[in-house]
Amino acid sequence: MKILRKPSQILGYNVDCFSFEQALEYAVLSSGQIVTINPEMIMNAQKDKHFSKVLSEAELVLADGVGVEIGLKLLGVNCKRIPGVEFGQALLREYSQLDKSVAFIGAKSDIVNKAVENMKKMYPQLNVVYIHDGYFNDAEQLYEQLEKVRPDLILVALGSPKQEFFIYNLKERLPNSLMIGLGGSFDVWAGAVKRAPVLFQKIGMEWFYRTVLEPKRLKRIFPTLPLFILKVLKERSELNVK
Ligand code: UDP
Repeated sequence: MKILRKPSQILGYNVDCFSFEQALEYAVLSSGQIVTINPEMIMNAQKDKHFSKVLSEAELVLADGVGVEIGLKLLGVNCKRIPGVEFGQALLREYSQLDKSVAFIGAKSDIVNKAVENMKKMYPQLNVVYIHDGYFNDAEQLYEQLEKVRPDLILVALGSPKQEFFIYNLKERLPNSLMIGLGGSFDVWAGAVKRAPVLFQKIGMEWFYRTVLEPKRLKRIFPTLPLFILKVLKERSELNVK
């Protein structure tokens, strides 16, 4: 029996606080859009009503980063983060075992090809039916190609909000496919970008490690993250959370 969704709310947006295993079980039985949400996306949605609609209509929303986990904690909700890069890989494992087809869209051409090659080494039964880099002008062309091959799972790594819009505009045309936006995951799978050491991941400081290595990411954290926390604190006092 399919688990029921009972999303928690943060600043008016849904987050499905499933465990990793529950989320995987739910996803495999679903179709539509999975969003891996972070504070930047929530702040962006508050300024962009189209993006807001995309987030509100997603079939599953996972707390990708520590920011959303902390925000929900402030609202009295325990929600363990589910990193998109790990969830995407778990989906590949499941879909290869179920002999279902997969598409990879996003990143530079050599990166996406290398990511596919590495994932096939990991899951030899993986049935990849479509690969496209993420630097295209005409999404319609990709949509038409995808409608022909009808992949069961479509991984989209274009960064946010591009990937969320790409999926939103596709999901009605492929109602049986499951689609997920995965940010920089193909770079990780290709071995071009390393994840932080496990210790940093465990204590929720992966963002800190990545920012030290790549200081231009700082622009994405400040002032967005502190503003997000301030908004959540305001919501907390309005909701009278103890
Ligand atoms: N990307 C892409 N097309 C674009 C812009 C970005 O395919 O027009 C890819 C980029 O090559 C990288 C990913 O999208 O692989 C975005 O990675 P980022 O680390 O910015 O993602 P996030 O931090 O949002 O998860």
